[in-house]
Amino acid sequence: MSEKTNISMGKNELTDGDKIELKDILDTEAIQSFMDDFYALTNFGIGILDLHGEVLIGTGWQEICVKFHRVHPLTLNNCLQSDTYLSRNVKRGEFLEYKCKNNLRDIVTPIFVSDQHVGNLFLGQFMYEDEVPEIEVFENQGDMYGFDKEAYLNALSQVPKWSREKVNIVMNLYSKFAQIISNLLTSNLAMERALEDKKRSEAAKVKLIEELNRSNKELEQFAYVTSHDLQEPLRMISAFTSRLEREYNKLLDKKAGEYMSFITEGAKKMQVLIKDLLEYSRISGSKRVIEDINSNILVSNVLNNLGLQIQESGAQVFYNTLPVIKGDPVLLALLFQNLISNAIKFCGKNIPEVNIKCEDKKLEWLFSIHDNGIGISPEYFEKIFMIFQRLHDRGKYEGTGIGLTICNRIVERHGGRIWVESEPGKGSVFYFSISKIS
Ligand code: ADP
Repeated sequence: MSEKTNISMGKNELTDGDKIELKDILDTEAIQSFMDDFYALTNFGIGILDLHGEVLIGTGWQEICVKFHRVHPLTLNNCLQSDTYLSRNVKRGEFLEYKCKNNLRDIVTPIFVSDQHVGNLFLGQFMYEDEVPEIEVFENQGDMYGFDKEAYLNALSQVPKWSREKVNIVMNLYSKFAQIISNLLTSNLAMERALEDKKRSEAAKVKLIEELNRSNKELEQFAYVTSHDLQEPLRMISAFTSRLEREYNKLLDKKAGEYMSFITEGAKKMQVLIKDLLEYSRISGSKRVIEDINSNILVSNVLNNLGLQIQESGAQVFYNTLPVIKGDPVLLALLFQNLISNAIKFCGKNIPEVNIKCEDKKLEWLFSIHDNGIGISPEYFEKIFMIFQRLHDRGKYEGTGIGLTICNRIVERHGGRIWVESEPGKGSVFYFSISKIS
């Protein structure tokens, strides 16, 4: 009877609060086949049962069990009592023996996963060599449960009789085997759980990125619609305040004139803000244009655009030969313009000095824009790339806090990244990379 046997062993109520099920994690097929070979070699059977009493692996089933003891409800109950007693009392790494009420012996050693007792390994239904079977006891047993006497005694005669020494050796081996299974199951489960955790956190990350993308899209949409729609009423405010100033100048006193210039000033600031917002919202929506761009010409055009700012500040901008790069000429001009303009703007008391460099990094170009300005404290290195984040009030430095967000977007669209290195009072270096692969 070396085939895996599907005999129900009944429930033994040992599973309160258990979460890990032995049958879910045990490679029953492999162990069954291994134990079949072991049985063929040694004639020692094995049973691996979970705590519900379900037989997961079984070899060497005795006829006395299969045809008699586990068939009659009362003798089955004796078997279950034995299973329950052994399962409850056996200690980790040890084995325990019990003479069941059907007058046969069972020995058990436990299987653990981490600290959880999940099943047992049984060597069951045998007698010791030195025990003389009390035939009379079995005859009475047979009569009591209505077993066919001859068949029952014949089954009894087939019950293996082993020396105590041999049983001890086998149980030592089984107990080691149970510990190996326990260790393997524990590490398998830990690996499985770590993998699940990883999967779960990756799925959460993907979801977060999706949500971030969606909310960015919504923000861009919102920025586009509001800034676009705000342009018209703002133009009206500017136009009519100019008219008021022009046509009613004489009727207004000094205070009213002051208020009027506040309105004009406010309207101008708002126009800049709206222009920046529109620029920002257009970047992602715009079609991807990829051209070969001579960045020397690009930077020189940008410096022309910034002519007034350079003149007023006395800034000096230096750059050596810059490469031909692949990208969108309008967006890249905007990127250089924002960074050079900031490098000049945040100069503090120094006369601005700006250095533009580029390094060939095989797969990408690494540009850097160095200035000798006020610098930035490390805790703001990431924050400044977020929309509307400014480190100074407008009274000190003009701006909307959108410029670097635009730069970030443009660099992302060119397969690169942007970051800053700086120390307060010691100038800043803004780095950005542009992928060579379009
Ligand atoms: P804005 O220039 O309109 O304020 P930006 O998004 O371009 O907005 O920059 C965000 C903030 O980062 C600025 O308000 C400033 O505090 C800081 N910053 C940017 N560039 C520099 C720089 N070159 N040196 C020092 N601080 C800078």
